[in-house]
Amino acid sequence: MQRCPNCRARYRDGEICPRCGMELSRLLQIENRLRTLEQIAVRSLLVKDFYLAEIILRRALKLQATPMVHSLLKFTRQQKRRRLKGKLSTHYG
Ligand SMILES: [Zn+2]
Repeated sequence: MQRCPNCRARYRDGEICPRCGMELSRLLQIENRLRTLEQIAVRSLLVKDFYLAEIILRRALKLQATPMVHSLLKFTRQQKRRRLKGKLSTHYG
């Protein structure tokens, strides 16, 4: 989180916005969860487990639709299609 979603004050640290007093802990938890899901998805992609990566990224998308999640999901779906085309051409020429 770069800015408080309520008053747009620059975020530094802590769980309460120093300007408006908004409770930020839940939002920080969501961001941490999102980062963890992104890391799991990237590890899944590194071992070419595209199905797991897509499941994880769809969960991440429900938390927050970041450009990173969208990019990873797009890449994952491209890789799944590429793998499927490879299998089809192997079996059916
Ligand atoms: Zn604020």
